[in-house]
Amino acid sequence: EHQLPRPNRRRVLTVANQKGGVGKTTSAVNLAAGLALHGLKTLVIDLDPQGNASTALNVDHRSGTPSVYEALLGEVSLADAAAVSEQSPNLLCVPATIDLAGAEIELVSMASREARLKEALTDEALDQLGVDYIFIDCPPSLGLLTVNAMVAAQEVLIPIQCEYYALEGLGQLLSNIELVQRHLNPELAVSTILLTMYDGRTKLADQVTQEVRSHFGDVVLKTVIPRSVKVSEAPGYGQTVLAYDPGSRGAMSYLDAAREVAERGAQEGTA
Ligand code: ADP
Ligand code: MG
Repeated sequence: EHQLPRPNRRRVLTVANQKGGVGKTTSAVNLAAGLALHGLKTLVIDLDPQGNASTALNVDHRSGTPSVYEALLGEVSLADAAAVSEQSPNLLCVPATIDLAGAEIELVSMASREARLKEALTDEALDQLGVDYIFIDCPPSLGLLTVNAMVAAQEVLIPIQCEYYALEGLGQLLSNIELVQRHLNPELAVSTILLTMYDGRTKLADQVTQEVRSHFGDVVLKTVIPRSVKVSEAPGYGQTVLAYDPGSRGAMSYLDAAREVAERGAQEGTA
C-alpha cells in the first residue's frame, strides 16, 4: 500500500450524529484502520459507554480497565489508557467501559466539565503515542460527552445514513456545533460528511445522496459507503472490515474514504 501524506499537524476528528445506528462507530474504526494501513498512526477514542468501538477493535474494556473514563477524571494519562489493536501497531484505542455511563451526570458538577477530554489530550500524551490522527467516537446524544468531544477536536465528521429521515435532526446537531464554536472552541468546523449504508437498489438512496450533496457541497466525501453484510459482520469478530474481508466492497470504500480524508487534510493544512 502506498503511503498517505502525514498531516501538517495532528488532526482530531469528532464523529458525531445524535441519531443512533447511522454508522458513527463503524466509520470511526474503519477510517482509522484505513489510515493505519497506509502508515498513519491513528487513535480511536471510544466515548460511548456502549463500548462498540472497543469491541470492534477487540480491545479490553471490562470495568476497571484504564479507559477514557479515568482519563476524563484525570486519574490516568490518555497515553496509559490507550491500547494497541491486534490489527495493526498503527491502530490504537482508548476504550470505554461501562463506568462511562455515569460520566454524563458526574461531569455536571466538575470543574471545566466541557473541556475534560481536551485537557486529557495533552501534547505530552499524544507525542508519547506518536499519533497523527485521532477519531472520537461519540454516543448517540448531544450531551456532555459529545460536547467534550467537540471541544477537544478541530473537525467534526458527520456520518449520514442514506435512509428515510436522513436529514432529520441534522439542524439540531449543526446548531449545537455552532454553540460550541461560539462559546467553547472557535476552531471547530464540520470538515467532513460521509454517506453510509448506501443501497444502490433504491431510488431513495440516490435522492438522499443528491440532497445531502446539494446542501453541503464539497464537505461531503466523494466516496459513499455501501450497505454490506461484511461491514456489519466484522465487529462480531473483533475486527474492522479491512481486516475481516479486505477485498470486500465495504473495505475498499472505507479505504477510499480514508484516503480522501488524508488528502484533504494535506491540502488544507487542516480542514
Ligand atoms: P452508530 O455508531 O451511529 O450507532 P454503527 O456504526 O454502530 O452506528 O452502525 C449501526 C449498525 O449498522 C451496526 O450494526 C453496524 O454493524 C451496521 N452498519 C454500519 N455500517 C454498515 C454498512 N455499510 N453496511 C451494513 N451494515 C452497516
Ligand atoms: Mg456507535
